[in-house]
Amino acid sequence: MVLDDLGTSLRGTLDTLRGKSRVTEEDVDKVVKEIQRSLIQADVDIALVQDLSSRIKERSLEEEPPGGTSARDHVLKIVYEEMVGLVGDSTDLPLEEQTIMLAGLQGSGKTTSAAKMAWWFSKKGLRPAVIQTDTFRPGAYDQAKQMADRAEVEYYGDPDADDPVQIAREGLEATSDADVHIVDTAGRHALEDDLIDEIEDIESVVDPDRNLLVLDAAIGQGAKDQAQQFDESIGIDGVVITKLDGTAKGGGALTAVDQTDSSIAFLGTGEEVADVERFEPDGFISRLLGMGDLRQLAERVERAMEETGQSEDDWDPEDMMSGSFTLKDMQKQMEAMNNMGPLDQVMDMIPGLGGGLMDQLPDDAMDVTEERMRDFDVVMDSMTDEEMEYPRAIGADQIERISRGSGKPEERVRELLQQHKMMEQTIKQFQGMGDGDMQRMMKKMQQ
Ligand code: GDP
Repeated sequence: MVLDDLGTSLRGTLDTLRGKSRVTEEDVDKVVKEIQRSLIQADVDIALVQDLSSRIKERSLEEEPPGGTSARDHVLKIVYEEMVGLVGDSTDLPLEEQTIMLAGLQGSGKTTSAAKMAWWFSKKGLRPAVIQTDTFRPGAYDQAKQMADRAEVEYYGDPDADDPVQIAREGLEATSDADVHIVDTAGRHALEDDLIDEIEDIESVVDPDRNLLVLDAAIGQGAKDQAQQFDESIGIDGVVITKLDGTAKGGGALTAVDQTDSSIAFLGTGEEVADVERFEPDGFISRLLGMGDLRQLAERVERAMEETGQSEDDWDPEDMMSGSFTLKDMQKQMEAMNNMGPLDQVMDMIPGLGGGLMDQLPDDAMDVTEERMRDFDVVMDSMTDEEMEYPRAIGADQIERISRGSGKPEERVRELLQQHKMMEQTIKQFQGMGDGDMQRMMKKMQQ
């Protein structure tokens, strides 16, 4: 996640203000230094960081905190407001007929983002179509088609054509019954003149309502030039930041937003079509600052429930919070969790859990891919009730029998048991939180 450690380090610094009713210049300097360090490390443009820090400093010292507000809350509020100001509002995307064109370098995630956005619009009740005009990258047609199929949206491309402008024109005609057209364009490894010429030609035919620049979160200072050139040639209305599920820093993308005077439209958080979030400045910054974003989490939970056909009655977090955690529980939780998205992303949204807890677990502890889950399901089908209840008692002989019965390697059975242990350990930590955040949040989600 972007600026991952900002929340943690900032919270530490802000905590030193606890109990104080007034902030001193020295206090503010400490906070500002922490923010500068994180932002610069995350590749945010230096000039931008300096602007932001002087505003935070000025406001913290000059503005009078409302009566009863602690120094800590006063500074936190200003930091929050200024950070929201830095990322800006999300790109305006009315839920109506429109054409969106995507620009960006090869590998930035355009094709994937086109399908994700189409999926997102379809969930909002619109009828999107993806038009693939990339004739440069050999696999583009098939990849985009596969993704559009997964998103269950209309698709147009022509693997035999070599004129992107013609594909765009024909694509718009062929998909005229769709209401949202998402036009994917070719990228190159670097910005070259012919790429700019091509995208200008496509734009003149497509006449998009919005041009979105797709940027890999890993992009650093290069984002500035790229954003500037695309902005000069076609005008950029918004940015899609992809691969935020990785270790990328994302700051370059913030620089691009500033450079193009645009805003962030979507965030990409994985390789599947559903791994997309509409950018919400408040939620994003709350998460960044480690405050948690309950609304996003609640939406995901709702969606997951719809998809698994579970009613709220079946979902009983209380069960999970009390007593033992069996393989049967794990089976249920994995299904729901997987529909919400990777567990670590879900965790990031929970107040007080972002970062900290996850850092204590091995990197792959939460890596429950769909394929592994399907295997786990098959493995569990070959277990006895007793084994499901008391997985810790399963020994080598049983592993061998389960493996034979399920047709899955013993390795998979062991992985499942390992995964169960890790989840059990995580749940125990939640339980350790007593009546704290987690339980309150779970209850809230049930309402
Ligand atoms: P394009 O060349 O700009 O069209 O980029 P692609 O859409 O083909 O994406 C390049 C690679 O990045 C592919 O392997 C995608 O699966 C991957 N990718 C795209 N978006 C994301 C994302 O949000 N998270 C992750 N982990 N991978 C992504």
